[in-house]
Amino acid sequence: MQQIKGLIFNVQRYSIHDGPGIRTLVFIKGCPLRCLWCCNPEGQLARPEVMYFRNYCTRCRKCVEVCPAGAIKLRNGDVVFDKNLCNSCGTCVEVCPNNARKLVGMYVTVDDILKEVLKDMKFYARSGGGLTVGGGEPFSQHEFLKELLWKAKEYSIHTAVETSLYTSTNLISGVMKHVDYLFVDIKHIDPVKHMKLTGVSNELILNNIRYVIEEGLIGPKDFVIRIPIIPNVNDDHENLKGISEFISSLKYEVSVELLPYHELGKHKYEALGRDYPLSSLTSVFIPPKEHMIKVIEFLTSLGVRIVNT
Ligand code: SF4
Ligand code: SF4
Repeated sequence: MQQIKGLIFNVQRYSIHDGPGIRTLVFIKGCPLRCLWCCNPEGQLARPEVMYFRNYCTRCRKCVEVCPAGAIKLRNGDVVFDKNLCNSCGTCVEVCPNNARKLVGMYVTVDDILKEVLKDMKFYARSGGGLTVGGGEPFSQHEFLKELLWKAKEYSIHTAVETSLYTSTNLISGVMKHVDYLFVDIKHIDPVKHMKLTGVSNELILNNIRYVIEEGLIGPKDFVIRIPIIPNVNDDHENLKGISEFISSLKYEVSVELLPYHELGKHKYEALGRDYPLSSLTSVFIPPKEHMIKVIEFLTSLGVRIVNT
């Protein structure tokens, strides 16, 4: 039987931050959210695309000569890339001598991925690690996700999923049958502000968090809520208090991880020909340790159990 193919944009081995032990991370491409601070913008669109890293380009013109779509032109000695004309054939990537062009997004079968994942079985066994599927949004390709997790479990590999849970509720239990560990983000408690910051309301997300707990689809030891801390965007007391009230209303006590804002993905926006969404918000900053300590102290005083202090 022909296997379904999934679109991924990265496989990363030896991760120690995305679930127990040493893990292999698979990044699914495509996401219904557009978080303003997203550090993986190459994971948002559900199609392959080409990134152009201008700093590495020596204007050698090789890509201009081979592009069959006329998407790359030379103008006043500079290379100009029209993404709208690009069909992601990858020809320019192959000829570029400086790795200034990168094709992100490849269609793979579950067996293709498992071949990579199985390479580190001895590390998983020693560390209690396994496979983590993130993105992008893993549920945006739920059939592929389900098959990948099911097959991983056939090899007794521990499985984790990092998701926004912005997905149809009736798709969740089929996937969760094969999930050992779950991370879900809460980005803002106010649905209107959530819409402004991510492009979608949070109602479905909060309902789905309650659903996975109340249906017993994941236990308290294996469920982590993550809160990105974006100074002057979502770290005000009103929002943190609202999130803590939601968490304390859940059927069991959930562990929380805080994700401090960083700008490691900023250069990728330029490579994708897009503006960095937070560049107009000058009040945003990378939170220093003292700032995070204040956030931790406040949340802890509200009864939130933070596990990555
Ligand atoms: S991926 Fe193909 S179509 Fe796109 S710029 Fe490169 S050569 Fe041209
Ligand atoms: S092939 Fe690479 S280095 Fe040469 S012009 Fe194109 S992007 Fe620049």
